[in-house]
Amino acid sequence: MGMKLYDEVIKKCQDLLETEESHGLFIGETRWPEVSDRSMILRSDMAYELGGEGLPAIGCTIITANQELVTSDKITLVGKDLPEIRKDVPYGRIALVRVNEETLGEGQVLYQAIRALEYTRYHFYPEGFMMRVSAFKQKESVRIGKAALAKGLDFTKAGNRMISAFHKNPSVKAVHIYYVTQEDFGYKLLGAYAKEAESITQTIDHILKTSIMDCGACSLQKVCDEVEGLRELHFAR
Ligand code: SF4
Repeated sequence: MGMKLYDEVIKKCQDLLETEESHGLFIGETRWPEVSDRSMILRSDMAYELGGEGLPAIGCTIITANQELVTSDKITLVGKDLPEIRKDVPYGRIALVRVNEETLGEGQVLYQAIRALEYTRYHFYPEGFMMRVSAFKQKESVRIGKAALAKGLDFTKAGNRMISAFHKNPSVKAVHIYYVTQEDFGYKLLGAYAKEAESITQTIDHILKTSIMDCGACSLQKVCDEVEGLRELHFAR
């Protein structure tokens, strides 16, 4: 049970993200420093912002137990890498995380585990790469520091940092991160998929909190109609 719930939306994301423009980046130790806590990058120290003012800024973490969807640790870039960017660009960051289903547990434990994996984004601080999240607006943008860029910051360094942060969780088997900076990309569609994943997580939460199973009167019927496994999850309880 459980981790199949997101597989369809993951496949849709991958169809969109695996294009002729996308290419893999190096996986391994890059020796990029981490700053000890959330140190600020002020506007004056900033080279540009990924997903800056008014631009698409999508950040999303989706989990699966399916080895075919996430074979091994990978970073895929769609568009320019950090050193080639000169001004604010649209931005997308999708992390697909393969977990060992048994260790995640069920019920409330499962929901907490899903949120804990999402919150990994708050627990990694590569130098010169300051993430700014508006959970309310579902936006994730990143300020890139001038000094760090001059020292060689790129997505390989930031991405490997994020992958290590995910691996601190023992149920994580493999992580595939996609970064998108291409100007003319299907950000609308990508944003819709991120929303879809979030609505699945919210439905799981609802299912765990309520024992009333009247699909006809339930506001989540649409999600449950589309996502295989959610009804089973509710009726199993
Ligand atoms: S299974 Fe039915 S009652 Fe439960 S969340 Fe889905 S639509 Fe609502």
